[in-house]
Amino acid sequence: MTTLEIKDLHAEIITPEGERKQILNGVNLTVRSGETHAIMGPNGSGKSTLSYVIAGHPKYTVTQGTITLDGENVLDMSVDERARAGLFLAMQYPVEVPGVSMSNFLRTAATAIRGEAPKLRTWVKEVKESMKELDIDSAFADRSVNEGFSGGEKKRHEVLQLGLLKPKIAILDETDSGLDVDALRIVSEGVNRYKEREEGGVLLITHYTRILRYIKPDFVHVFVNGKIVAEGGSELAEELDANGYERFTSATAGA
Ligand code: ADP
Ligand code: MG
Ligand code: MG
Repeated sequence: MTTLEIKDLHAEIITPEGERKQILNGVNLTVRSGETHAIMGPNGSGKSTLSYVIAGHPKYTVTQGTITLDGENVLDMSVDERARAGLFLAMQYPVEVPGVSMSNFLRTAATAIRGEAPKLRTWVKEVKESMKELDIDSAFADRSVNEGFSGGEKKRHEVLQLGLLKPKIAILDETDSGLDVDALRIVSEGVNRYKEREEGGVLLITHYTRILRYIKPDFVHVFVNGKIVAEGGSELAEELDANGYERFTSATAGA
């Protein structure tokens, strides 16, 4: 049983003009093993900032509040330590790593997280099976990480990592963007397999409700102006689908 606990989180970014801009304005959120939380909110509300801050992106400064994983101070950990502790962030725009094959990249990541290199033979088998489940062409294992990958291929690669690295808590930012219906279904099935196999906790960040047809959230949080302004069950996602965010954005305007 793992608990990620975010309390009163405030964070800011230094803009290209050198000004401090506060983006997170007091986020409170608890994600436990086996739970799926959806964070939904309009563009620019700070959803990606929240995921970057949890992952330890150096561009952001936490000015107030705490993030803990089973009581351990996440904000004290380096990016690598966060991964070893069991946090996983699938990026909205996954990075390209030229010259590093996907299979080497995955094995290096697994080694860092597990503390020892997975046995080569079982690893190759594990990767092959996972790729098959996600309908990824086997030739992909030899291609450089994300180089020349289509949007859908990058997303499949993220979910491949999720299945192989087996984090305790997975943060998926806009995993649905750029996916056609078939890819969306395959990627969603991968996330659901991870939930079942690893009993992982999932924080799914999105502004579309369509992925929530495939990945059922236990909790839905509405994110506006850098904080959570409403919470509910999956019925809240349906309401947002029908009515949009206006009811929530007008209530916080000027706040
Ligand atoms: P979301 O993921 O909800 O669309 P983001 O976290 O990407 O929101 O952005 C939140 C806010 O922070 C936006 O107003 C955005 O313009 C601003 N922001 C993000 N990055 C920077 C940056 N490097 N400099 C200035 N403002 C930024
Ligand atoms: Mg955005
Ligand atoms: Mg975003």
